[in-house]
Amino acid sequence: MIFREYIQDLWRLERGSVRQNRNAFVKIALVYPNRYHTGMASLGFQTVYRLFNDHPEVRCERAFLYGAPFDREIKTMESEEPLSCFDLVGFSFSFELDLFGIIHILMRASIQLLAQNRMEKDPLVMAGGVITSLNPAPLLPFVDGLVVGEAEGTIPQICQVLHFMKRQKNRRIDKLQALSEIEGVFIPKINKTVNKQILTSLDSHPTYTPIVTQKSHFGNMFVVEVGRGCSRGCLFCAAKTAYHPYRFRSMESIVETVARYNPGAHRIGLEGAALSDYPNLELLCEMLVDIGYEISLASIRADRVTPHLVDVLERGKVRSFTIAPEAGSEDLRRSIGKGMDDDTLRNVVHLLKDISLDVLKLYFLIGLPDEKEDDVQSIVGLARELADLFFSKHRKRKIRLSVNAFIPKPFTEFQVCPMASEKMLTEKRKQIKRGLKREKNIILSPKSSRNEILQGVLSMGNDEVGLAMGESVVSNISWKQAVQNRGIDIDVLIHRKRALDTNLPWYFIQNAGL
Ligand code: SF4
Repeated sequence: MIFREYIQDLWRLERGSVRQNRNAFVKIALVYPNRYHTGMASLGFQTVYRLFNDHPEVRCERAFLYGAPFDREIKTMESEEPLSCFDLVGFSFSFELDLFGIIHILMRASIQLLAQNRMEKDPLVMAGGVITSLNPAPLLPFVDGLVVGEAEGTIPQICQVLHFMKRQKNRRIDKLQALSEIEGVFIPKINKTVNKQILTSLDSHPTYTPIVTQKSHFGNMFVVEVGRGCSRGCLFCAAKTAYHPYRFRSMESIVETVARYNPGAHRIGLEGAALSDYPNLELLCEMLVDIGYEISLASIRADRVTPHLVDVLERGKVRSFTIAPEAGSEDLRRSIGKGMDDDTLRNVVHLLKDISLDVLKLYFLIGLPDEKEDDVQSIVGLARELADLFFSKHRKRKIRLSVNAFIPKPFTEFQVCPMASEKMLTEKRKQIKRGLKREKNIILSPKSSRNEILQGVLSMGNDEVGLAMGESVVSNISWKQAVQNRGIDIDVLIHRKRALDTNLPWYFIQNAGL
């Protein structure tokens, strides 16, 4: 199969589109540094794609980290042009490990890997996305600029600068200088700090997936954002800080967004970190169900689930339900700020046991600060107890248990806390596996403790860590070897508690209100 056939297959399955000006003067390649199905499930990626194309003088095209054999030279889906032909290559940076995708793509696109080596002919390389609001320091050597925070107000200004500067035939350094003057844009060569941008009125900027495809991770689902941030106090939570402060959209604007922009999907996904705190959640779901839609919700806090909500969700053909107790014991839950008792969890599962639901997903963290030996065993006990309740009427159902390592995240209260070692994480997972080996309907999602450690290194690391990762790809050596070659001590970086007054690599981001 040639690239064109591969792309045409993807096109055929896409419903909805983003209007593009084929003759636009400025060309932008928006790149998701992971597979198509992950990128197209990203509300942020789809929103930025739409916002760039809203500018009359900009044509924005998509590219992904395609699977072999289409990963040799990365081209855009729309015009099949190589990335090096664009004025700007913009990366959507949503997961720490996508740094490797960015490095691979730059190399395959024949764009100088290090920003400092780029010449006049090279495109500008920038990045935005949730990681650029947390810790983008490891990415800094590879980009000419970052967009920090919510990009709705920043993107039109970037388009304007690029358009004006290209017409004037300005030099690369002049473009960077002009971009550095936009609030929320950080040019490492020029700026020392950046103010993270926050949108004041969500209602004036609807956020949704204009393109729906069965090839997306979410399937044929129209996703719409309900709110941003969270008012709860979980001390480990990056979603709370990255999208701070807590805001939500009016119900009218959400319903209008679905009515105006859904390209024909039957299923509506409601997204937002604090979805369950949305004041009109039951009414909103009810309205969508009454129109005839099926619905899908991101994780719901157990203490916000009511019999009425469960009833509406059943009518909305919700297939799976996600609860995140995070810790097995009440004590540990209290100490991490989750504050949810076992009875609340039992009550929710009691409500769910009668409705037609295929899967219950439970999320736990291991290696949390203050975790005791018993706490890991408590995960086993709680999962078993909830499983007994959930399976009591429908024996063929499944529970998916996702057990993730605690990774200290920037700007959270736990940012200075140590991460457990790879050996300890593996041992804890084995303990959980052993405890659940007779429970055939509880499926433990596969996780790699090794990758979690790498994620921790990228979450806490600086630009030297980024350079080490670049060297590991270029020289085809392990990341641990590359980190060691640069004299970086992983133990100090992630396994030891840091002093509260440590100058952390992400402190160049001014985070209003945190
Ligand atoms: S874990 Fe959930 S409830 Fe807690 S702060 Fe984060 S988003 Fe809010």
